[in-house]
Amino acid sequence: MTQVDLKLKTLRVNLRKYGKIIAKDVAYRYHPATETKEEICVFCSSTSNITKEHVLPKWLIETELHNTMTSVVNKQTVIYNRALVPACSECNNSILAFIEKHIIRAIQNMDVFNDCSNYDVCNIIRWLEIIDYKLQVLDCRRKYIKYGNSEYDHDWGKFPVSMMRHFLTMNPWKSYSWLRNSQRRITIKEKIDGLNSFVVIRPCVPNFYFFNLPNEYIFLSFPTCRIAIFYFFKKRYKYYEYAAAEALDIIKKVIESD
Ligand SMILES: [Zn+2]
Repeated sequence: MTQVDLKLKTLRVNLRKYGKIIAKDVAYRYHPATETKEEICVFCSSTSNITKEHVLPKWLIETELHNTMTSVVNKQTVIYNRALVPACSECNNSILAFIEKHIIRAIQNMDVFNDCSNYDVCNIIRWLEIIDYKLQVLDCRRKYIKYGNSEYDHDWGKFPVSMMRHFLTMNPWKSYSWLRNSQRRITIKEKIDGLNSFVVIRPCVPNFYFFNLPNEYIFLSFPTCRIAIFYFFKKRYKYYEYAAAEALDIIKKVIESD
């Protein structure tokens, strides 16, 4: 087992063990009946050494001026620097940072050698699943921003109890089950069945672009190389060409509506 395999395994084990507790915490943290609690790590539920984990890694957008990202679901544009979720320093600095280093290498290899092993593709898929999960955690926390309030704490999203009636429209149960789906995907080790759902596109020029539909798909175009990737989280295809055609169709629609 390589180092990155071990890190991914730790992540799976932790989410199998603590996923329920974490999802419940994230979905109900701001419920008026919930007492204010310490932040917990959204990967292992630890409350010690909580750090701010970037939803999209810094290296991905650091060369880019447009540091925003969009979510197809609510059309909210999120300023990248504020797109943070709580993670303990072990998960953030040891596990996730290590996995990211591995992914950078895999993407660079894909660019330079025009090839990527199934092993690397499976790891990129795992990494995309982690991003989808972080986006959903972020989305749960950010729902409160919509109701624009000066008491809102932009770092962590503390929200006053008086917003209860808004909370009723937010459906924490739905958030909970979405978070659970997203966690469950991460806990499944095998990703071979997703290979045909992973589409690689070579843009003419390197260009950062990002969008996602939670639990459905994600698109990432890298700023430093001529690689863009699209992945269907749930949809499975007998032939890669079918996935590629559908992905291109979605990309075209999203970019046109931008
Ligand atoms: Zn942790």
